[in-house]
Amino acid sequence: TTARTPLAERSAPELEAFAAEQERAYAALKGRGLALDLTRGKPAAAQLDLAAGLLELPHGVKDASGVDTRNYGGLEGIKELREMFAELLWVEPEQVVAGGSSSLTMMRDVLVDLWLHGAVDSERPWSQEEKVTFICPVPGYDRHFTLLEWFGIEMVTVPMNDDGPDVEAVAELAGRDASVKGMWLVPTYANPTGSVVTQEIAARLAAMETAAPDFKILWDNAYAFHHLTEDEAKSADILSLAAAAGHPHRPIMFASTSKITFAGAGVGFLAASVENVRWYTGHLGKGSIGPDKVNQLRHAQFFGSPQGVRDHMAKHRLVIAPKFAEVERILTERLSGLGVATWTRPRGGYFVSLDVLDGTAARVVQLAKEAGIALTPAGASFPHGDDPRDRNIRLAPTFPPLEQVSEAMEAVATCVLLATSEKLLA
Ligand code: PLP
Repeated sequence: TTARTPLAERSAPELEAFAAEQERAYAALKGRGLALDLTRGKPAAAQLDLAAGLLELPHGVKDASGVDTRNYGGLEGIKELREMFAELLWVEPEQVVAGGSSSLTMMRDVLVDLWLHGAVDSERPWSQEEKVTFICPVPGYDRHFTLLEWFGIEMVTVPMNDDGPDVEAVAELAGRDASVKGMWLVPTYANPTGSVVTQEIAARLAAMETAAPDFKILWDNAYAFHHLTEDEAKSADILSLAAAAGHPHRPIMFASTSKITFAGAGVGFLAASVENVRWYTGHLGKGSIGPDKVNQLRHAQFFGSPQGVRDHMAKHRLVIAPKFAEVERILTERLSGLGVATWTRPRGGYFVSLDVLDGTAARVVQLAKEAGIALTPAGASFPHGDDPRDRNIRLAPTFPPLEQVSEAMEAVATCVLLATSEKLLA
């Protein structure tokens, strides 16, 4: 039987028969008139319902320090929530800012501040540099890249491996070019690869020599607590590592409750050296007299403790782990052994990263679209939307109900097989 012979090893007649089979399967798929969507890295309604108790809170209006949360003030956020997330993120409370609902806004603010004023260790504002370059591990988070594009910051890519970015490549780029001012990194269950940066790689990034004195690691720990298995990854301790290596102001960490409570009404966090925190709140104060402390208070009461956050995340896991298992089951059943694709088996986070045959990702996405299945545009996980090998597709299974994940993944498998056979026969 040829059922599991890699397609590339099949004879021309075998391949033609295979392609004809895929065309029939695809025609049948199109005939079903599906309307499915695997593009959105959003929590499902069932996950939002887990935090319904937030809507009954807060009880009372004062925080642990006796501050009336309804009033102005307290730019750095309320004490008990800073303490709670300091413990979760392995940093000190005075290193944490609890802000508004979006950590992405905090990232943009940090870049604006760097641009207009420079960092605590800068020689001048970044806008006065001839050129600013960022290192971008790929595949990565599309909004990180579009944000840099908005500034006109140049992007150089390095591969994102299972244990973090290619650290030799990063050290080389940062070491020889003073225009290289920083890098993005999603250290835990990265978007979209699910990679977890090891303590060794984090230590290397913290300690490496950089040509720019004010090199920044924007450490976006959006999925720090978002485990899909009982084997819970612990994020590398970047602030301590950097301080120990003599570069205390290098990392700026971000996190949020967007995928813990409500994606549109959670709390964002920034964590960094105390000097960096002072720098950040100093600039923040030009545009705000204080965050939504009422929302912060209800979050603190809802969780109760750092363990309360961990317990809450275990409930999320019960909702979404079966969807990831379904993606894995269908990809394995339909594609394994055929030499047509590889994919990640994430232990946390929100995504599966699917690599198809070079030069077929855009075709797969197009075929899926014509059959009523929306996939993230091919290339979205690369700067300027350009995947040089046209092979990567980001799958986001959390939002649709389980039956729709199954249907959509069966359809994706059919599209991958058709696109591959087209390519091999071309
Ligand atoms: N960072 C990463 C890596 C993400 O994947 C996302 C959302 O998809 C965000 C940040 C957005 O965070 P927030 O909702 O706190 O703005």
